[in-house]
Amino acid sequence: MKKVHLFIFFFINILFANAQNTKTPDEFLGYKLGTKFSFHHRIVDYARYVAAQNPTQVKIFDYGTTFEGRPLVLVAVATPENLSKLDEIRTSNLKSIGLLEGKPTTKVPAIAWLSYNVHGNEAVSSEAVMQVLYELVNKSNSTTQNILKNTVVLLDPCINPDGRDRYAQWYNRVSNQSFNATPFAVEHNEPWPGGRFNHYLFDPNRDWAWQTQEISQQRLKIYNQWMPHLHADFHEMGPNSPYYFPPSARPYHEDLTAWQREFQQTIGEYNKKYFDKNYWLYFSKENYDLLYPSYGDTYPSYNGAIGMTYEQGGGGRAGIAIAKEDGDTLTLSYRISHHFSASLATLEAISSRADKTVEEFVKFFERNKNNPVGTYKSFVLKSKGNEAKVKALTGLLDKLQINYSYASKESSASGFGYQSLKDESFKVEANDLVISTHQPKGTFVKILFEPKTTLEDSLTYDITAWGLPYAYGLKAFATKEKLSVGNPQSSNTIPVLTVEGKPYAYVASYSSFEDVKFLSQILAKGIKVRFNENPFEMSGRKFDVGSIIITRTNNLRMGDEFDKIIQTAAKNLNINLLATNSGMVSTGNDFGSGSVNVLKNPRVAVISGDGVSPTAFGEVWHFFEQQINYPITVIEGSTFGRVPLDQLDVLILADGSYDRIFGNGDALKKWIQGGGKVIAMEGATGYFADKDGFGLKRKKDSSDKDKPELKTYNTRERESISEQVVGAIYKVDIDKTHPLGYGTDGSYYLLARDPYNFEYIKDGWNVGYLKDNSYVTGFVGQKAKDKMKNTLVFGVQDLGRGKIVYLADDPIFRGFWYSGKLIFGNAVFLVY
Ligand SMILES: [Zn+2]
Repeated sequence: MKKVHLFIFFFINILFANAQNTKTPDEFLGYKLGTKFSFHHRIVDYARYVAAQNPTQVKIFDYGTTFEGRPLVLVAVATPENLSKLDEIRTSNLKSIGLLEGKPTTKVPAIAWLSYNVHGNEAVSSEAVMQVLYELVNKSNSTTQNILKNTVVLLDPCINPDGRDRYAQWYNRVSNQSFNATPFAVEHNEPWPGGRFNHYLFDPNRDWAWQTQEISQQRLKIYNQWMPHLHADFHEMGPNSPYYFPPSARPYHEDLTAWQREFQQTIGEYNKKYFDKNYWLYFSKENYDLLYPSYGDTYPSYNGAIGMTYEQGGGGRAGIAIAKEDGDTLTLSYRISHHFSASLATLEAISSRADKTVEEFVKFFERNKNNPVGTYKSFVLKSKGNEAKVKALTGLLDKLQINYSYASKESSASGFGYQSLKDESFKVEANDLVISTHQPKGTFVKILFEPKTTLEDSLTYDITAWGLPYAYGLKAFATKEKLSVGNPQSSNTIPVLTVEGKPYAYVASYSSFEDVKFLSQILAKGIKVRFNENPFEMSGRKFDVGSIIITRTNNLRMGDEFDKIIQTAAKNLNINLLATNSGMVSTGNDFGSGSVNVLKNPRVAVISGDGVSPTAFGEVWHFFEQQINYPITVIEGSTFGRVPLDQLDVLILADGSYDRIFGNGDALKKWIQGGGKVIAMEGATGYFADKDGFGLKRKKDSSDKDKPELKTYNTRERESISEQVVGAIYKVDIDKTHPLGYGTDGSYYLLARDPYNFEYIKDGWNVGYLKDNSYVTGFVGQKAKDKMKNTLVFGVQDLGRGKIVYLADDPIFRGFWYSGKLIFGNAVFLVY
């Protein structure tokens, strides 16, 4: 096209650019919304099309790519006036809350961010968003045009494209040509693992605060650039439930502001109007609470916004239409109309209070800076000897835009000790990490670091404890006064490695997950590694058990590559390496000693498929592929009988039930006896418990459980929680002389989500166990509390020449429990 024509083309385009000639989703897609599930690329195409048709009102931000290569986009819709200064609005908003230097240069309108389809098989919302986008640019819709006068709308049409397409492809493939509403039809029974999760089968609606997944990381980056005043997250629940909208259920976190609580009611009022008018059923104030900080409603709330969850009845089972228990048929178009109405109700609610919302948002951040919430104003995390853990933690804080500093010199202080669980005096030493609540994100700091979460009600949807000092295994204190300390950067640097000639060996100590990464990376490159069973000293440095010893003599075949591989890996991971020209130590065993063992580079596999928890499997898969970069073979459970087990050294069983997969178990047992190692996690331990030939035994229930009890029917839900552990923290005693305990300081804080109930092992090693008084914080029901006393958590049993590692607790839960990754790494590489 010639230039002049191009100009005319654009001119005409702008002149007529409005919804009158913007195609509806039906016209664009070529089918009626609700008659099939749209693939992700079609949804993105429609957004791009609407943006091209309405260039003065719609702008698309490409903010990333999923693991499977699908685009992540954010769609901004505003009046032409606001769109022309969109970036000024964005920066002025950040300036008004202290997250960007300078003063706002324009009045900030309300900024509302609506997120769709975070759970991939809750697929209705990405259909509904196309209708929402269309109506926002529809000039004849006075409701949406009024909203835009004081509100900038940001739409994320699909947070989890990989999960969505996994669902849409499956559904479109198996469904009858015209739908079949019979609940037992194939189209209502998704195969393993279902579309809910992302590529690595993590739940993206549990990952906002922990930032372990690619979609969370990329989204938070752009979220931080906007800091919206409202965030709504669109979900689905089972098909027999109607619709859920706020106000949310209790418990609320104590730090939700009065305004945020009030707005929960407002949202309810606006939704009620639509739902009552159409005779649609709904509920509010039940099930979906505001506590765990890593959801799409709580994370925004603790960052100053109004956060909310919507739940439509339907989900992965519902398909295009499904017969419900009440005799009605639930259709996809019906579900679309609900999420569409809730989207509009949300925008109307914020638009009706735009000025007040912005004002309250600014106030939230001002209070954080000047008079933050909480008893404790500073958190001190001890750095010495734990530099790698501190670095991993600050990496997370950076993603969350949380400021921190390092103590510049020694001083005395007093505060609550996370390990002693009481007030005490302590020394602040140079380079200790100090995080103050006096900062824009002060409320969130308080929530992530508080030693104990205040629970106004114990009936909650998720875990009740998450203190980051425990998650990272760092000694920590909380002080009531704000500590003023100096350095924005740690002055602690890893000494430069000095190498003379060709060293006899390289040595590194072993105490954190970074060391596991170093170990696995060099093992993956074929380097042979040794480790010591007894502590030793060399060149003035002390090395505890389990240090990494890499002798040239086992690696001569590598030639000069040997030094390069080790030095590069150490440099990349900040490992403090010692290069030595002798194999003789000053105290302890020399490197040729029988107590200095050679490690294998193990061939590792994990079982997936029916019976295995998708997320637990995903945690293992992600650990190997994305965290330590070590090869792993994924085996589909139903093919287990055909697997040549002699080609494997380690078999990982994530949480799940394995009776069907292993059949009579003979092949598995034979392989272990011949030298194989099984790592059985959480529910997978159940396969071995109380079975002949295995050492794991459940405790006998001593309570009179067969005796009938008098109880009230309508308190049954509350009764049942006395059996539960709702994500509580316990201190595990660890035998640090056993390879499974190497690198720990003799204790480990775990996040319990089910009561463990195992006796200490008789013929084997009780490496991690709970005693009478190991409870630290979080909700545990009374009956569960009793079970958790004197219980095995981590154990190792010999079987012939092989081993079984029992991990009753999942040490890599949701990929965020940092200190557990060391234990898991030990199970894979060090237990021999
Ligand atoms: Zn959901």
